[in-house]
Amino acid sequence: MGRIRILPDQVANKIAAGEVVERPASVVKELLENSLDAGATDLRVEVEAGGRRLIRIVDDGCGMLRDDALLAFERHATSKLRDVKDLLSISTLGFRGEALPSIASVSRLLLETRAAEEATGTRIEIAGGKMLRCEEAALGGGTAITVRDLFYNVPARRKFLRTEQTELAHIASLVTHYSLAHPAKTFRLTSGPTELLSVSPVATTKERVYQVFGSQVLEELVDIGVRARELFMPPPSVPPSQAIAEYRSEPGPDDDPPKRTFRLSGFFSRPQVQKGNRNSIYIFVNGRLIRDRLMLHALSSAYHNLMPSSAYPFALLFLEMDAEEVDVNVHPSKTEVRFRHGSFVHDFVRDTIRERLMESRPAPAFSPAPPRTATPPAQAAAHLPYSEFSQMIENEAPVAVSLVEAAPGLAPPPAAEPALPEFTLRPTRGPDPRLDFSAPPLEVTPGPPPSGKLSRRLDMHGEFPADAIPPPEMSLSVLSDLRPLGQIHESFIIAAGRDGLWIIDQHVAHERILFEQVMKQRAAGRVEMQRLLMPLILQLTAEQQIDYARIADELHASGFETEPFGNRTIAVKAAPAAVGAADLERILFEILEIAEGELRGASLDDLRRGICASIACRAAIKINMRLDATKMEWLLRALAATDCPMSCPHGRPIAMHYSTREILKAFHRL
Ligand code: ADP
Ligand code: MG
Repeated sequence: MGRIRILPDQVANKIAAGEVVERPASVVKELLENSLDAGATDLRVEVEAGGRRLIRIVDDGCGMLRDDALLAFERHATSKLRDVKDLLSISTLGFRGEALPSIASVSRLLLETRAAEEATGTRIEIAGGKMLRCEEAALGGGTAITVRDLFYNVPARRKFLRTEQTELAHIASLVTHYSLAHPAKTFRLTSGPTELLSVSPVATTKERVYQVFGSQVLEELVDIGVRARELFMPPPSVPPSQAIAEYRSEPGPDDDPPKRTFRLSGFFSRPQVQKGNRNSIYIFVNGRLIRDRLMLHALSSAYHNLMPSSAYPFALLFLEMDAEEVDVNVHPSKTEVRFRHGSFVHDFVRDTIRERLMESRPAPAFSPAPPRTATPPAQAAAHLPYSEFSQMIENEAPVAVSLVEAAPGLAPPPAAEPALPEFTLRPTRGPDPRLDFSAPPLEVTPGPPPSGKLSRRLDMHGEFPADAIPPPEMSLSVLSDLRPLGQIHESFIIAAGRDGLWIIDQHVAHERILFEQVMKQRAAGRVEMQRLLMPLILQLTAEQQIDYARIADELHASGFETEPFGNRTIAVKAAPAAVGAADLERILFEILEIAEGELRGASLDDLRRGICASIACRAAIKINMRLDATKMEWLLRALAATDCPMSCPHGRPIAMHYSTREILKAFHRL
């Protein structure tokens, strides 16, 4: 009895219809998903000419029975769905039964497959949708699908394909991402003779991240672990989303269990790692790579006031939930989803990432180029830009097209190339750090040093006590124990600790301290205010007048006592104690500007944070200001006590760390 059936019309009609095969990468995606759905643990992808000439995927999955192999090329033929009810809880990646027929109609396709329960396999050849051959064949278990000459019979399509390099980048990105979501499986991607990715099974995602990106990137990421949050279903259940309601014969909430558990795991970067676009954000929902505004928004809210709003983190997020909680039948390419409890999911993701960010309090480090032999080069595919998914998310985001630019290692990768240079933690935004502590690349040779320039006796200069070297992981909590040594340019505090050398930007450090103080006071409704001797009268433009009216309550709660005063004029009678009278006018106009920006889609919370950040920035000590030792000590201690000492409310880094280990390495003592 075959497994594949043709969906009845009433089910087929409910499926988000549309083109599946847009480009070579979409073929790879559909075929990979089929292999994963078939339970494969070994997936090999081979392409030539960016997938135009050849795409071949070989898996060790369940294979297809002879009859099924033929049926699989009919439209809406699937083994994954039976009736409308199944659409409510799809647990496979595929369900539309359209990929194989679509691909076969625009290429020369060869299917070789054998199910475990059959003694011989099946070979089917189709070109442009026409069956050329179907025969019994002696084959191993699993399935191999070879797609040649994509769009050979659709010249219009062929003409609009991007360059081979671009297509290859998309394919590599896809395979990489699926390999990250399935660490226990083997993935291999080759383009002609070049191996782009090859990963063997490992127990954890962390190890897979290491395999794909290398140790340097891994060190710069925060591991979420597994965090869960439960949603208790209120007795009259939250109404199911429109889409789900449609499938239900009768929308009865009675069958809902009383609670649902959502789980988040994965990795994200510290705020110092700042990307210019969203290409390094990978989001999986129930194992499916998706693009979703809600999740992206949750992620950026987590970094709010830790990173400039124009910057993006690296993130690899895996969200798991009951299949009923997410509708995947939204878009033909299955990359969009609709959450049944969207705001719950949003807040869960935002809070979890924020909490982990706070807990890890990671310190940015100066990063001398890593020792060459210590870091295995990252896989070439990991250098590739994120593919169609993120590009579709934000059409305004510049499309990363050139593989050569993005992946200099694509030609057989030079072995010594360290992983992703863009991941070094030196601030990529904000003022250029003038101080360059980076050391030249160090050669680490195991065993006794060979003759030559390294042959001098390393221990001649005295052994450094090994126990004086703290573990490399360093948290900003140590700030309170530092001994300030002085300032550079009366702007940056230099401090020594057991763990090495620190440089702290005094202005942003104070800004962070004040920001959190003001936020706390504001939350408690106890903002310290001071009355002005004479009210300050401000003239507003018509637009500012409107913004002012909208945020007057917020201003008041933040410590500004203001009232309308004639036509387009306001009187300021009191201000937060931290703000000097001289700064008052500038700060209020700054806040009105934030308010204007906030109109474009940001939340009240963003506005509040914006106001507090403004107050903190104006009130903080400036650079080019002399501080005595007590002031410096106070500043460091107060900074250590903040929730988030790693970056200022505008997202700039506060402290840089040059660890003892790095110092030792630079002096060839390690
Ligand atoms: P869908 O994945 O939506 O079911 P497809 O057209 O992609 O539709 O595939 C049709 C059917 O062919 C699948 O339901 C599955 O039963 C079978 N199939 C496709 N690829 C494989 C594979 N690699 N291994 C085993 N079965 C497969
Ligand atoms: Mg499929």
